[in-house]
Amino acid sequence: MWLNYGVSDERGLVHISDTPRGRSDLHCPYCHTILIAKKGHVLAHHFAHDGPTCNPANRTTELPILPFFHSFTLHLTPKLLGQLQAFKDGRRSATHWLQQEHLIRYNEFTQRHELTKLGQIPFGMLSVNLFSQVHDARLADRHDQLDWWLHKAWKEGNPVARADAETDLMLYRAQWQRVLQCALYVVAIQTETDQFYKVGMTSRPIEERILEIQASLMPHIGAVSMPADMLPFCQNDQSPVCASVCPLFARMP
Ligand SMILES: [Zn+2]
Repeated sequence: MWLNYGVSDERGLVHISDTPRGRSDLHCPYCHTILIAKKGHVLAHHFAHDGPTCNPANRTTELPILPFFHSFTLHLTPKLLGQLQAFKDGRRSATHWLQQEHLIRYNEFTQRHELTKLGQIPFGMLSVNLFSQVHDARLADRHDQLDWWLHKAWKEGNPVARADAETDLMLYRAQWQRVLQCALYVVAIQTETDQFYKVGMTSRPIEERILEIQASLMPHIGAVSMPADMLPFCQNDQSPVCASVCPLFARMP
């Protein structure tokens, strides 16, 4: 997971989407090194250190990311995900591990193991309502866990662990707040030969985002149109162009 936030002396935490590409006046929230905004066309936009990346920002696990937000595969290891798929397909699987991760449970009535709501998420089996319930609970759980780590670091009198835990919690809260302020959109994109869909989130007017999408696709597939009947499926009640609520997606969390 990439670093998405930098710290400004005047503006506090600044998200990558709110700063232009290139060297910035923002600092790493963990080590205070100056950051460079990487906003290319291949990798997800992120901040890089102007120098070596510090250890807390370089973690591949345990970064304070929102559950399910960047991946519907629950950030499971490929091995565990493979076991879950095997279970769903009725093949031999490591039920003990899947149960330990709350992905499956034993049903007393049917006397068989079955996928939990959590375990159904990677396969898109939950309704929006159920997905939101699971998601909300996981968001709160993760927050409580980060809060607990901070208290633990305080108790142990470990200043380095305490500073990292404080930053983790701060970044997590900033992401959560950002999600609540964003609108989810779904747009249909029509090329000369094909049609596909883009799902995303934005805190800016949907028209602005659509112009960006069109500009970013232009070098690859040329001019695209967005059929009026699909434009926009934007679930931000404050949006002046929000004509209808997308029936497929709910506000997250
Ligand atoms: Zn750093």
